[in-house]
Amino acid sequence: MTESSLFAERALLPDGWARDVLFEIDAGGGLATVTPDAQAGAAPRAGGVVLPGMPNLHSHAFQRAMAGLAERAGPAEDSFWTWREVMYDFVERLTPDQVEAIAAQLYTEMLKAGYTAVGEFHYLHHGPDGSPYADLTEMSRRVIAAAKTTGIGITQLPVLYGYGDFGGQESGNGQRRFLNDTDRFLDLVEKLLKEYRGDPNVRIGIAPHSLRAVTPETLSAALEGLEALDASAPVHIHIAEQHGEVRDCIEWCGLRPVEWLLRNAAVGPRWCLIHATHVTEEEARRLAESGAVAGLCPTTEANLGDGVFPAPAYLEAGGAFGIGSDSHISVSPIEELRWLEYGQRLTARRRNLLAGGSEASSVGARLFRGAVAGGAQALGRPIGRLAPGARADLVVVDPERPNLHGRSDDLFLDALVFAGNDNPVTGVMVGGGWVVRDGHHPREEEIFRAYKTAVAELAS
Ligand SMILES: [Zn+2]
Repeated sequence: MTESSLFAERALLPDGWARDVLFEIDAGGGLATVTPDAQAGAAPRAGGVVLPGMPNLHSHAFQRAMAGLAERAGPAEDSFWTWREVMYDFVERLTPDQVEAIAAQLYTEMLKAGYTAVGEFHYLHHGPDGSPYADLTEMSRRVIAAAKTTGIGITQLPVLYGYGDFGGQESGNGQRRFLNDTDRFLDLVEKLLKEYRGDPNVRIGIAPHSLRAVTPETLSAALEGLEALDASAPVHIHIAEQHGEVRDCIEWCGLRPVEWLLRNAAVGPRWCLIHATHVTEEEARRLAESGAVAGLCPTTEANLGDGVFPAPAYLEAGGAFGIGSDSHISVSPIEELRWLEYGQRLTARRRNLLAGGSEASSVGARLFRGAVAGGAQALGRPIGRLAPGARADLVVVDPERPNLHGRSDDLFLDALVFAGNDNPVTGVMVGGGWVVRDGHHPREEEIFRAYKTAVAELAS
């Protein structure tokens, strides 16, 4: 049910902190007016500090059910590539029902943690033997159905996956459920665009998986095809996550992955480069200038031993960024933001590296506000700001947690990001409707039951 108004004693608006804010919400779930220094009147009180909901710009939903299964040393040296083998084994047997159950559990956890929108980088398209389901969009629709069940906003990015490695090498067996040629891929995208057109909580984009999984020809064909379907749709791509990937790319074309992409594709504000971990300072500067978003996933990048993105140089150049929980080894915007800064501190052996320039020295505020804005840009939906015309997507944080008590404004965000371990989010609203109240999702028990069934089936 959509609320018609909400009153917050403290709220973070696009221009900064405001007091006594009255939010009026239209019947479609958008913010109609946002008025600071107002009277509450009949509006219900938020019961805490109101922040814009955090977009989670990178997710592979099914991986939630394998989080923790790859933390044992194997006979060979463990790396991203050995983790990927575990993931391929796990993917073998997943059914549409299981994928939907896992995604619903994950999205419930995301909402409770304060994420109000997700970018689903969706590559599990087909049946176990690699043949498409009777409905080509089966898996895509199941994941979007999970988003609908929970209430989270979703930008689904169906993945174009065609090859096993740079230069159009043949794909392996573990990748057969992901594969499409460009025509079938665009057919899938077109069907999804038709089905969800006009739905304010769903957006469709595309994700060429990586430069390993496409060729220059299939990449440009997919981009041209998208141009004809929806010329403003978001485009996401995994890029430069691993040293080995950079090395292989140079071997293939003489350029590093980000260099190649900036030179060969019209990378701009619609684009989100996921990870972009291994970039030179020059690449970081040029990526920032392109207006694209760097999609950073610090807990997954740490878990997989990827490396550390040169965030200070990138932010200095005005680069846009957002956060994603990617493999879902952690589902917490607080932890992502914290590790974004901590990775830099551990590398540089200094503190407060991402505080940024002029207006403030608050690392928490810089990270929170930057990730909200960049995440919204990457997901291509009117979210990420509590202002008229945007969706009424917001979170309520309990200011009476010990780490937050007595902190206001930017110090509140510093304490939120760095000083606590419990989840202080008590309320979450998406599109004007409450999806979390008193820390609970109304359907969390039923969703968890279905998840447990899926996990039991996968373990048997
Ligand atoms: Zn990913």
